[in-house]
Amino acid sequence: MKILVLNAGSSSQKSCLYEIADEALPTQAPKPVWEGKVNWTQDHGVAEIEVKTAIGATVENSISGESPEAHLAYMLNTLTDGATKVINQLSEIDLVGHRVVHGGQNYRESVVITEDVKKAIANLSNLAPEHNPAALAGIKAIENILGKVIQIAVFDTAFHRTIPDAAAIYPGPYEWVEQGIRRYGFHGISHQYCSGRAAQILGKDLASLRLITCHLGNGCSLAAIKNSRSIDTTMGFTPLEGLMMGSRSGSIDPGILIHLLRYCNYSVEKLNDVLNKASGLRGISGVSSDMRQVRKAIAQNNTRAQLAWDMYVHRLCSNIGAMLASLGGLDALVFTAGVGENSPGIRQAACDAFGFLGLKIDQEKNQQQPVDEDIATPDSAVRVLVIHTQEDWAIAQQCWQLQQNSNLLDF
Ligand code: ADP
Repeated sequence: MKILVLNAGSSSQKSCLYEIADEALPTQAPKPVWEGKVNWTQDHGVAEIEVKTAIGATVENSISGESPEAHLAYMLNTLTDGATKVINQLSEIDLVGHRVVHGGQNYRESVVITEDVKKAIANLSNLAPEHNPAALAGIKAIENILGKVIQIAVFDTAFHRTIPDAAAIYPGPYEWVEQGIRRYGFHGISHQYCSGRAAQILGKDLASLRLITCHLGNGCSLAAIKNSRSIDTTMGFTPLEGLMMGSRSGSIDPGILIHLLRYCNYSVEKLNDVLNKASGLRGISGVSSDMRQVRKAIAQNNTRAQLAWDMYVHRLCSNIGAMLASLGGLDALVFTAGVGENSPGIRQAACDAFGFLGLKIDQEKNQQQPVDEDIATPDSAVRVLVIHTQEDWAIAQQCWQLQQNSNLLDF
């Protein structure tokens, strides 16, 4: 079975093609046979296209003019043409899976995309303005380019549907609950994938484990997972809540917002920009939203960069503590995404804070770029895993499972 995955960002569309046997899913993520990316640069209308295949063929091109859909069509044509050809016709693609950031309260599982689903994704755009419209554009482009292929929406919010009301509802007036103002949580595809992979690495039944998964990328969130389900998470109604992030503030006193609006001449747009783009590591360090740059600046005795690091660690630890309370204990702490997978210093600092639980990491293993590995010492009371998140593969898996359960291709 050939499954094409599309992962839309605010200024990019990443895509990959998996070939999976019809009978069974592989136990570990296979390499996609083809990967493509369109990046829309600041220059209006310029698309940078990069394509590579599993056997190392590549295509790179910049296209100016034309529509984003034409750019996507160009990228998809490299599946059937030229050096990166991996299939004869686009009609060989059986299913197309899309990452959709916000599924609201109604979409609690992956679903086949219908007119109603498209309307719902569009209606939820004001809750995920950077992402839902981009996913919708991808869905419409595939309809036009591939015709009648089955498309599936895999929602980032779906994994968190099991969070109990006591953890999901905000203590405002009760009308908020009726208006759908509640914790949805994000990065669900990654948290779910990492929980399954953690059970695999530990050789344990996922249902028997209490896990905290730390997704630390540009956006950062934690999930508390018990009985295979998300029972708490740090992101909320929007992806702004919770941890300090690359350029997002995470949780702050809501009174600050009232103060800025009332006394400092902030408009709603300015508030939005500051909280999303000029805060977090970037705002405090003044250097960058990228942890690597912050580290470099610390090595040059930049005190604001040091403060940004210390705050990031403090907030990471205090939020891990909150997840710990929701779980009532911990079998494994999991680190994933750009910072989680690549920063031994952040892992060490977070683990040091939980030494009192009997959690100990092997300092050598921590330094040796672990991938899908347990880096706790043998006598540690809690396992510590570093897992390479594979969101695209998780989307392909969910498409494959939906097809198995509903025989989509028989219609
Ligand atoms: P996204 O959240 O956009 O998917 P990633 O998960 O790829 O992003 O994470 C990107 C971030 O990972 C970068 O901004 C950078 O801060 C961090 N990162 C990547 N490599 C390293 C590294 N070697 N050390 C520390 N941080 C890293």
